[in-house]
Amino acid sequence: MISARREWIPASAGMILCSVLMLASLACSRENKAAPETQSTVVLPASYDSSVNPDPNPPSINADRAMQYVKEIVAFGPRPVGSENHKKAEDYIYAHLKGDQLEDDAFIADTPEGKFPVRNIITKYPGTRDGIIVIAGHYDTNYPLRNTGYVGANDGGSSSALLLELANQLRGKKLDGYSVWLVWTDGEEAVKQWTATDSTYGTRHLADKWQKDGTLTKIKAFILEDMIGDADLNIERDLNSTPTLETMIYDAATRLGYQSHFFAREIGVEDDHLPFVQKGVPSADLVDLDYGYNNVFHHTPQDTIDKLSPKSLQIVGSVTLETVRLLNAKK
Ligand SMILES: [Zn+2]
Repeated sequence: MISARREWIPASAGMILCSVLMLASLACSRENKAAPETQSTVVLPASYDSSVNPDPNPPSINADRAMQYVKEIVAFGPRPVGSENHKKAEDYIYAHLKGDQLEDDAFIADTPEGKFPVRNIITKYPGTRDGIIVIAGHYDTNYPLRNTGYVGANDGGSSSALLLELANQLRGKKLDGYSVWLVWTDGEEAVKQWTATDSTYGTRHLADKWQKDGTLTKIKAFILEDMIGDADLNIERDLNSTPTLETMIYDAATRLGYQSHFFAREIGVEDDHLPFVQKGVPSADLVDLDYGYNNVFHHTPQDTIDKLSPKSLQIVGSVTLETVRLLNAKK
């Protein structure tokens, strides 16, 4: 069922903003609709049981370790699809997942700039309950900016690193609930200009694959992390995400005292969650598209490590894990 809030953004509105952003950054942004800034009032729907007991030991992550991962990934330099540095980032991710239940979804993407190998990296942490929660984030960096010194500390680096730290938190634990699968998605970035077919190469392939093999019906939630390291953290309320899952995320943030970093602004975001949204999987994008004043650091060589903070990784990592707990508490 598609409610008014999930209606697709008219192409014209997106295209106008995209053309403006093209001039600024050589690549189209995913932000296709800037609604007026509003203080959102989040109403819990009746179907959601918000009376879940507070966790006596609220989830947390090792934020300094996560930040160290960002630094090490960024040190490889630009990591666009098809590059040697991209391969280094892949190897780095694998090196941190030794002994985990690993799988990959590798294929050749046909893009406006030619054919590129794309590889989604998946780790599975089994739970006791039938169903899967997917937490995903991309590790490729912007292709058009590959020769500008662009390193994608926030856009690509932060999501890759946070997922590695979430793996540390999930590994070796008996998960009393749904299985959690982590996915380092690839080919999220457009190679020429952001369109429905020049973007999200990895997740479009993965969503199709999981639809064919039946995995999709088991996914209870698809939670996407993107650009979550900004020291001035403002996670958007994304109008393309599933409202009930967004509400649960806001509840998780509130329970941990982090709600001031969430949902001050509502915008429609095109990102790796869309292929799953379009196939009916409850999905949410945790993304901060207010990266520097007026988003000036996004898709520019200014997207560097000094703009990030371990605290932001801590906030998003903890809220993600608390959301997993709430999903498991749901009847
Ligand atoms: Zn990007």
